[in-house]
Amino acid sequence: MLNDTYRHKGMRRKLVELLRSKGITDEAVLEAIDKVPRHLFLDNAFINFAYKNQAFPIGSDQTISHPFTVAFQTQLLELKKGEKVLEIGTGSGYQCSVLIEMGVKVFSIERHRSLHMKSKKILNDLGYFPKLFFGDGYKGLPGYAPFDKIIITAAAPFIPQDLLDQLKIGGSMIIPLGESEKQEMQRLTKKAETEFLTETYGEFSFVPMLQDKSFKS
Ligand code: SAH
Repeated sequence: MLNDTYRHKGMRRKLVELLRSKGITDEAVLEAIDKVPRHLFLDNAFINFAYKNQAFPIGSDQTISHPFTVAFQTQLLELKKGEKVLEIGTGSGYQCSVLIEMGVKVFSIERHRSLHMKSKKILNDLGYFPKLFFGDGYKGLPGYAPFDKIIITAAAPFIPQDLLDQLKIGGSMIIPLGESEKQEMQRLTKKAETEFLTETYGEFSFVPMLQDKSFKS
């Protein structure tokens, strides 16, 4: 069932070249993308399209991000091996596995129980063991804080204060910020307890980071 053929590997190599041509320069990120069998994170119907630079449905009305978006956000994190990274929006688990291939310790939160369960299974079947949580990403994981880096993979209507609080000084958070169809990718670097440097990186389009209290099954 977990079939990663030479054909898939070949398609992945092409995807890596496409990402390089679109401006991804961090070799460690490209290597991680080259290693992760993205097709196994998609439902069967989409398997043959897995290596196109497209978003696809993963169930529960959610999508796996474009490979370029995954590569871009991962590059902005400027990861060092061994760092503690919090991801908001586990979704399919694909971004999670790319982070693990970068050599960091991953904590990830998902508010859809079915996606939480499904991603855990595929990740574990592939030999990836992040710490996965079913819960509200706006709250983060105070019990595991502080984190070196935080990556939000859903469109945040505002900057969640709890997440800023859970960032180490010197650490940074990547956040697609905005309530409309498009969001602005921002990197917030924590210079001091209440001092942040904001850098902006253009427009992207994510599914919304939802605020209602009721988690979905
Ligand atoms: N990183 C994912 C992309 C997921 S799409 C991947 O690689 O596949 C965004 C995900 O964020 C969806 O699964 C959605 O259910 C989740 N999400 C939305 N609001 C959330 C919240 N408040 N807390 C946690 N997860 C949330």
